[in-house]
Amino acid sequence: MQIISGKELSAKLKAEMAKDVATYMDKYRRLPKLSVILVGEDPGSVSYVTGKTKACDEVGILNETIRLEATASEAELLSKIDELNADSTVDGILVQLPLPKHIDENKVIFSIKREKDVDGFHPLNVAGLWNNTDCIVPCTPKGVIKLLKSENIELKGKNVVVIGRSNIVGLPVSKLLLNENATVTITHSKTQNLPQVCAQADILVVAIGRAKFVTPDFIKNGAVVIDVGVNRDEATGKLCGDVDFDACAEKTSYITKVPGGVGPMTISCLIENTIECFLNNVKHKLM
Ligand code: NAP
Repeated sequence: MQIISGKELSAKLKAEMAKDVATYMDKYRRLPKLSVILVGEDPGSVSYVTGKTKACDEVGILNETIRLEATASEAELLSKIDELNADSTVDGILVQLPLPKHIDENKVIFSIKREKDVDGFHPLNVAGLWNNTDCIVPCTPKGVIKLLKSENIELKGKNVVVIGRSNIVGLPVSKLLLNENATVTITHSKTQNLPQVCAQADILVVAIGRAKFVTPDFIKNGAVVIDVGVNRDEATGKLCGDVDFDACAEKTSYITKVPGGVGPMTISCLIENTIECFLNNVKHKLM
């Protein structure tokens, strides 16, 4: 069994991106900039935003966090997004989700200019992913593929089972795996005989949001397991994944850990997406 370290891979990717970014001032006369909007004080969201802006600093990307009160109106948030859409020094806009219940999340996602949508959630980027045309690919699914590729794990023709069908993780990661010519089965809360379905998988990608849900009976001997889940273990109070790592690890050939697996990859892919938006932005202006 080998642990695939997202922490190590992400550090390597950030160091490579930092080298590139260091050349941008000379080449393009400005640096990439990410604007993050945080509505409210949810501790999980605050910690995610801090992680994202810290990574920007490490790579040399300009960044700002715009904080709005939890009671801010939808109109106030949309007007802030309009302002950032129009600001030519801003390359990427990220609105930290989830939003307070009185704000329509879809309306907010749709309002971000497609070219600045570093999360890849705008319908035109989603369509691009499904049509195989130019698009910004969502960070977490992109990170999952990078983790698999970093270990040269063969995807072509492999049986991959994904647990979860969310727009943020399950569906886009399934499409990216399909693009790699894997045979993909998407499962969810209504799937019958879930452990048996999963036990057919050469590669199991788990994105449910339930602490230690996946037990050894879900896993074929020698399978690769990627754990996207981030949960709080009620017994220990520590972060844990959707996979019961201690019980499952020895059955696998490769497995990711929580924390230190997919999470850091989400952040380095966000930085990559911001740079991609920046490069598109500056090249577009040069044309
Ligand atoms: P989500 O929107 O709540 O989706 C969860 C999915 O899991 C749904 O498709 C749901 O099925 C399925 N599910 C729930 N209970 C199930 C069960 N008992 N058996 C089979 N499937 C079940 O969550 P998400 O946004 O995809 O996130 C999933 C997890 O990944 C969460 O822990 C989240 O915190 C984590 N996450 C981590 C990162 C990272 O960077 N590491 C990024 C994003 C998310 P139905 O569709 O039938 O309801």
